Amino acid sequence: MKRANKLVGSWMRAAGMEVRVDAAFNLIGRLSSKKRGAKCLVIGSHLDTVCNAGKYDGPLGVLLGLAVAERLRGRSLPFHLEVVGFSDEEGVRYHTTYLGSRAMLGLLGKRDLDLIREKGIEKARRSHRDLLAYLEAHIEQGPVLQRLRRPLGVVTAIAGQSRIRAAFIGRAGHAGTTPMTMRKDALCAAAEVILVAEKLGVVATVGQCAVDPGVSNVIPGKTTFSLDVRDAKDAKRKAACAKLHRLAAAVARRRGLRLEWKVVQETATASMDRNLTTALRRAAGQAPLLPSGAGHDAAEMALACPSAMLFVRCKDGISHHPDESVRTADVASALDVLTRAVLELAERHG
Ligand SMILES: [Zn+2]
Repeated sequence: MKRANKLVGSWMRAAGMEVRVDAAFNLIGRLSSKKRGAKCLVIGSHLDTVCNAGKYDGPLGVLLGLAVAERLRGRSLPFHLEVVGFSDEEGVRYHTTYLGSRAMLGLLGKRDLDLIREKGIEKARRSHRDLLAYLEAHIEQGPVLQRLRRPLGVVTAIAGQSRIRAAFIGRAGHAGTTPMTMRKDALCAAAEVILVAEKLGVVATVGQCAVDPGVSNVIPGKTTFSLDVRDAKDAKRKAACAKLHRLAAAVARRRGLRLEWKVVQETATASMDRNLTTALRRAAGQAPLLPSGAGHDAAEMALACPSAMLFVRCKDGISHHPDESVRTADVASALDVLTRAVLELAERHG
């Protein structure tokens, strides 16, 4: 992180920006406005990545912001233009997401602060009143734009998420001697729930499933599984989770099993700002609108100021993988769109 901040910071300086690193290791480059009482337009994304990642998830958005600043250097803008490279968006260090942006917005809770070993991280906090708006460009990390044959998309909302840990507790038994009608098979019960989750009309994934004792000639006595449910509409996501919970309870009753069901994480949908989204879309030639299934710093920034996101098409939707890839021409389009959107904002606030 320190090396990345040093390198990108040197590019920011070369672009004529004042550069600082805050107490949460967010890198901030700034072109100051001469206008009195000017607020701050932030263009950002994150500079950290997961292990064995690609080149573009995060850094693309920071470098696009930097390229916009290079283009607009020397122009008098009615707002400060800041380019932010957020730290630890991925939760690599403490398994907490959006660490940098949440620290900057003063949104770290006691649980975070107890976890974090870097002292004084709360000093990264800044006033929300200084923020005019936030723009973030990011690779789509999905295959939709490629399928639509469009280089860019504009994000409507960052989908809310529920993460559930569930378990069916049945009874292990001999796979040869226990009649089919006398079993308490915990895996068959989980399978019923998983197949319904697939057809519920929300984005739902069971990514983990552990079978106990996990032996080929023993009836599964216990099955523990994860459930990740996402939708851009919170009510729809919650209704889907409640329906799956009721179904799981009914399956457990019918099969004579015990059910454990625990919601371990719940994040609300972050809606992008309507005006800003319209401006971005206009600048992008009526680019398609799409929700983001993945989380982004914009979800946190939207709590503090009007925020909008631009997606750049990525090859086959591959992300968090070294094969992550974007086309140079698409990046050039994204740069034009962001620049136009910033100039339009300047006109509106001038
Ligand atoms: Zn990212």
